[in-house]
Amino acid sequence: MNTAKARTAAGQADTIIVGGGIFGLFCAMTLAEAGKSVILLDKGRIWAEASAVNAGSLGVQNKLPALIPYTLWSWDIWNTLSDRLGADLGLRRNGGYKIAMTEDEAARLGRVVSEQIDYGLDAQRLSPAALRAQAPWIAPDCMAATWSPQDGYASPTRVGPALRRKVESLGVRIVEGAAVAAVENGPDIRVLTTAGDFHGTELAITAGAWSATIAAMLGVKIPISLDVNMVSVTEPARPTIECIVTHARGILTLKQVANGSCLIGGGWQGIGSIGDSRKDIDHDQLVHNLRLAMRVIPGLAPLNILRSWAGYEGVTPDSYPYLGRLPGHDNVYLAACARGGFTLGPLMGTLLGELILTDRPSRPITIFDPARFSNAAA
Ligand SMILES: Cc1cc2nc3c(=O)[nH]c(=O)nc-3n(C[C@H](O)[C@H](O)[C@H](O)COP(=O)(O)OP(=O)(O)OC[C@H]3O[C@@H](n4cnc5c(N)ncnc54)[C@H](O)[C@@H]3O)c2cc1C
Repeated sequence: MNTAKARTAAGQADTIIVGGGIFGLFCAMTLAEAGKSVILLDKGRIWAEASAVNAGSLGVQNKLPALIPYTLWSWDIWNTLSDRLGADLGLRRNGGYKIAMTEDEAARLGRVVSEQIDYGLDAQRLSPAALRAQAPWIAPDCMAATWSPQDGYASPTRVGPALRRKVESLGVRIVEGAAVAAVENGPDIRVLTTAGDFHGTELAITAGAWSATIAAMLGVKIPISLDVNMVSVTEPARPTIECIVTHARGILTLKQVANGSCLIGGGWQGIGSIGDSRKDIDHDQLVHNLRLAMRVIPGLAPLNILRSWAGYEGVTPDSYPYLGRLPGHDNVYLAACARGGFTLGPLMGTLLGELILTDRPSRPITIFDPARFSNAAA
């Protein structure tokens, strides 16, 4: 006898969503706005992992060329999100510089921006003299730069609570402390968690870096590797850096937020793994990150670092997100692991919701098909 099936359900809904980060919340909002009943499960508090601890960049210039259209579509959602959620999200779209400090980096910057422009990026190349005139706070020996008015940022600590209020007002039931331990599929979906069993017609996996673990519960192997990204925040300083700054090699992101603090990131790796649940700072790596930040913006040098932290980001083998049906399961869907998933999350979650609702999402998703690397028998 199947004991799980004999237990009473702790909840039943059209769609069960596993993972309450930005992907899961946008999926929940899309489904609930269309009238579906939704239960959103999270192993801890919602909005406590990557979606909460990220650096807030809404970068377009730092995306792979083929992801530029998706980033701009996601920006279409960001542009109206404050009104939709009725909240100040700390959203600024005041552009960004992408800089190169060596000749090799300058060559790379030139190659990549040409391709990105072909995909719809609005950007211009700046000579060192033009950059000095526009942004005298960037190091004078910067070799090359591009400027795009399309970059920006938002505050993750403001976005999360506003999204939560919105989805709850739409009737989504959020269950926290519900770590998924097993999933059974057929004829309906049964999700067994530490907070009881939940039944649904469909399952949406939006569990970020943990998504492979959930897929494996259904016998599907989805390759996801782990980045343990670090971010640091400085003490507040006089407003100087009026837009985001990124780097030709993807190793720096920088912005000065409303209170004058500067947020410094760039994908430098901390220490930890999903298995040991560690997310610790690697001080040797952090020093490189901070030195590079000061090299690019010398005015940062006197500022104290108030805090550094790390968080998990799931990475796919080709750095394109997963979005689509889980192979071998018509009623199980997956959206996870976008490089720059805070920027892309609103679109990815919305498209996942549209796929569940209509089978015809409003944007093409074939390149994100989870089947591209999976074998259906984990
Ligand atoms: C330090 C850092 C800095 C970053 N900076 C930026 C940036 O500046 N700009 C940008 O665009 N992107 C950035 N990113 C990437 C971005 O934050 C992520 O791509 C995005 O937030 C992923 O959202 P998600 O909803 O897929 O995952 P998450 O926010 O990680 O949410 C997944 C959820 O699933 C839950 N879960 C996992 N396993 C289970 C289980 N078994 N049962 C129930 N629930 C489960 C987790 O508790 C979690 O709440 C950064 C990432 C990090 C870590």
